[in-house]
Amino acid sequence: MFDNSLVIQVQQANDIIDVIGEHISLKRKGREMVGMCPFHDDHRPSLNVSSVKQIFKCFACGAGGDVFKFVQMRENLTFPQAIERLAERAGIKLKRTKPAKGQAQKPSEDIDPNKLAKVNAWAAKYFQQNLHDEKKGKQTRDYIAQRQITPESIKEYQLGLAIGSPDDLLRTAKAKKIPTKLLEQAGLITAQHQDKFVNRLMFTITDVTGRVVGFGGRTLDETGAKYINSPTTPLFDKSNSLYGLEQARHQIVSTGTAVVVEGYTDCIMAHQFGYTNVVATLGTSFTTGHGRILRRYAKKVILLFDSDVAGIEAANRALDVCLSQRIDIRLASVPEGKDPCDFLLAAGKERFKQLLNDAVDVFQFKWNRLTASFGSDDTLAGKRLAIEEYLQTIATALCAGNVTPIDRGLIVNQISKIIGLDNKQINTELSRRLRQAQRATRYNTENQKGQTIDYGRGLFATAQREVLEVLLNEPKLFEIVKQKITAELFDVPILRQIAAILFETLNTNIDASLAEILAKTESVELGSSLVELTQAGEEKGNFQARLTGALDVIERYQAQKQNSRIKTIEDPRRFLRKAYENTGKENPHNVGMV
Ligand SMILES: [Zn+2]
Repeated sequence: MFDNSLVIQVQQANDIIDVIGEHISLKRKGREMVGMCPFHDDHRPSLNVSSVKQIFKCFACGAGGDVFKFVQMRENLTFPQAIERLAERAGIKLKRTKPAKGQAQKPSEDIDPNKLAKVNAWAAKYFQQNLHDEKKGKQTRDYIAQRQITPESIKEYQLGLAIGSPDDLLRTAKAKKIPTKLLEQAGLITAQHQDKFVNRLMFTITDVTGRVVGFGGRTLDETGAKYINSPTTPLFDKSNSLYGLEQARHQIVSTGTAVVVEGYTDCIMAHQFGYTNVVATLGTSFTTGHGRILRRYAKKVILLFDSDVAGIEAANRALDVCLSQRIDIRLASVPEGKDPCDFLLAAGKERFKQLLNDAVDVFQFKWNRLTASFGSDDTLAGKRLAIEEYLQTIATALCAGNVTPIDRGLIVNQISKIIGLDNKQINTELSRRLRQAQRATRYNTENQKGQTIDYGRGLFATAQREVLEVLLNEPKLFEIVKQKITAELFDVPILRQIAAILFETLNTNIDASLAEILAKTESVELGSSLVELTQAGEEKGNFQARLTGALDVIERYQAQKQNSRIKTIEDPRRFLRKAYENTGKENPHNVGMV
């Protein structure tokens, strides 16, 4: 969207020390500056900023990049928005290059998250004023009191009221000269210019820093859906937001455990009963996005379902999240068909505690549900079906999660105890299913952005990484690299993206600085990876020798691949023969399994 030389001009006009210094206080330490990292709950200064390299890096949470990435992350901006922001700061006029044909600019790119946060904060105040209004709020205050939510909670969670008028918010906003367009972008009014929330008890949804990102509204007259949420905006996405995280964050960090419930009032009530490490999904099931957020603060997550209905589907998702985000997930459900809020009020603090203590490890939970669903008949066929499905679920999750061999060994041990098969049988079955799952998902993962930074596994992936680590520190060695390999050879998605940018840059300018390469990367994730790889490379040193080794591995791998390509041509005949031999057998894959 902007010319690269202009982007670099903006980058150079905004010294990273000054820009970051406007957000957090920095102290000199050796050749660098350090400060408290704003991207995780920092207790000692973990954020290092290099004036020479014009980059930042947090040694605790891994955040890193150039001045654009800092502003992108800090203010939740897109790359073009960050460029505009910093151009404005430096007084540089920007000219947009015309978007290519058919690549019309998405309207969402014009929405400024900071303005959304401001208008949301205004709306939160407006809803609260309604609730505290002597007349307008009386009935709702009575309702809240009857639900046993305390005045302290009302304040802490910024509860509010959308009154029973179709456009009161809109009219109040107009009187304050708040642009209607902005209200619409924030999802506070509909496209037909009516208030989105009418006659509803309002729950203010904040992010971990306390910024108001959206709202949830519970109906007060039982019309429409019981709960509605703000629509997805650049600031708010249901599957990446957790209610109460701002309030629960410290307790989650100090106990290492987060408890996840589904409802707003469940979360508030748990806090009132002293369980201050509880957060709520916004009526959705627990997603990878939630897992990724909580992983920054907790090692263990307990999912507490309303009654039993959540069932197998929830357990499957939890398994995926558990393996891909490497967090220990336990599951529990509230008995007697109650939600956690009612349960706390009826059964009390101690039984709630018992419920959490009795939470079952996700692997065991899945197995329990599965065997229950196949009925109590303990027949061989029933058990075999259960095992089949169980291993399939785990293989799928393993595949998505890119689990290390050590972790996999531990998981196999755990499964072996649960289902009563020996490790060797489980390993064989898992390997076969894993190969299938990998074939099925390979295409998808290559076309999606990784959720966590995944540098791949195995010798070939390591070699790709080595080449990049070396080049980021010794760009001159690109003369050797470009004679042997191209970026297309890289098969780990993130490394391939970095290789493409790096090779292209070095081709035209072999002296390019890290900051210049960063100025070409739009995504925050790529920025963090670039800084990480550069620093890992710098620590290892020994560039020439490492490069020779890595290139050697890549060349051998290529040769092997050529070989196997020749072999697969023979494969169809072998497959046919095997299929013929197996005809008549019930299911060739299950032999000897149970
Ligand atoms: Zn950090």
